[in-house]
Amino acid sequence: MTLDAIVVGAGLSGLVCARRLRAAGASVSVIEARERVGGRLHTGRLGDGVVDLGGQWISSGQPRVVALAAELGIATERHSRRGNVLLGEGKPGVFAQLGAAIATWRAVRRIHRAMRALPTGDAARELDAITVDAWLASTIGNRIARDRIALHAELVFAASPADLSLLGYLGRLGATGGFAPPGPELPGGGREHRITGGAQSLALTLAEQLGDAVHLGEPVIAIEDHGDRVEVRTATREHHARRLVLAVPPALTRSIAVDLGPTARAFADATRVGPVVKCFATYDRAFWREAGWSGEAYHLRGTVRATVEIRTGGGPTLLAFVVGAAAVGWAARDLADRRAEILSLLVDQFGPAAAAPLDYVDVDWGADPWSAGCVASLPPGALSSGARWREPRGRIHFAGTESAIAWPGYMEGAIEAGERAATEVTG
Ligand code: FAD
Repeated sequence: MTLDAIVVGAGLSGLVCARRLRAAGASVSVIEARERVGGRLHTGRLGDGVVDLGGQWISSGQPRVVALAAELGIATERHSRRGNVLLGEGKPGVFAQLGAAIATWRAVRRIHRAMRALPTGDAARELDAITVDAWLASTIGNRIARDRIALHAELVFAASPADLSLLGYLGRLGATGGFAPPGPELPGGGREHRITGGAQSLALTLAEQLGDAVHLGEPVIAIEDHGDRVEVRTATREHHARRLVLAVPPALTRSIAVDLGPTARAFADATRVGPVVKCFATYDRAFWREAGWSGEAYHLRGTVRATVEIRTGGGPTLLAFVVGAAAVGWAARDLADRRAEILSLLVDQFGPAAAAPLDYVDVDWGADPWSAGCVASLPPGALSSGARWREPRGRIHFAGTESAIAWPGYMEGAIEAGERAATEVTG
């Protein structure tokens, strides 16, 4: 049977796309490699609460995800950020702190100006040839301000500023609202709300609506555009459709035999997917709050670069992020060893009570073969040599958060891209 459309990937983007296609009267199948839907959205249990092992926060500046949650009847709740933020920047004196605050404010303003006036042509090529790291070193004199901006880049892009194209960085920041809220407290913003029962509930509800159109446990290994139809091969069978929507992370298409055309192939080949580990520890009491801390802490160096308090519907919980070099190979280490390292760092931050959580879990996204990391970023030179991930190629269309115009890398972008790809298919 030849369907109107096949969507490869049952992440948020693919499911939103399939739902739109179905609503437009198209016959559609979603082919998914994993035995579950949601992709980078995965909700697990910790103690007596639920935690988002992958994507988690949404904000009121993201209209599509807010509207989708409301439409699906999925509750969201505000995340409190009351209390003091711990900045592991050593112990600068009052004047040094003031200097750092002013320099950070100036740097943010400068970056915001640059991202709002992105150049084209030769000037764009020049920006694409520079790394964020080199640019920070040459333009921001204050060390603490420079380190804060670098840490923000590392947390948001899950990549070292030494590997990021300045053009790509400014473009992504511009598409995701820049630094929010602006000011010295970096990184910040983008973390206003969480989805009460876990972010995967968006995908689970969409999949429920799509019913038997969603096929799990079928990694796609080859796609062929025959001109009048597209053939999709998995290890066990073939599917046929008039159009195909590729809703998988670009880097993962390297293992699919498919002619993506030169621009998308260049993007898929150049793209780097940052390794990220989320580590959760839940406690019987929020001892950090008793000492006046919000649970939010940032470190310029070391294994854990950011810690935040999260709500889980259960006991008070801390979430620690491991990014960059420290995240590489995390899952290959013994669980007891990983747990001990994280708890000892939490003790350093918030005191001895952190050593005895009721429950601990960590997730290494770099070790997940169907995500291979968190968000995609591009090294210098890729954009100006034509790497793109959006324009259709024959009967093949691109969805997935990496193809979004607004909020690429986020749930909001995944929805935007899925809706746009569906519109392309239905005309
Ligand atoms: P995916 O969710 O990656 O879906 C792609 C699907 O394709 C997957 O299900 C995969 O299994 C499948 N697939 C891959 N290869 C094949 C194949 N060969 N054949 C068939 N299927 C295949 N976003 C936010 O908005 N807020 C956050 O707080 C946030 N935090 C995050 C934290 C972490 C640790 C991670 C990992 C992500 C986070 N994100 C966050 C990003 C957000 O989760 C993603 O942007 C979004 O879920 C991407 O959806 P997608 O459908 O584009 O891709």
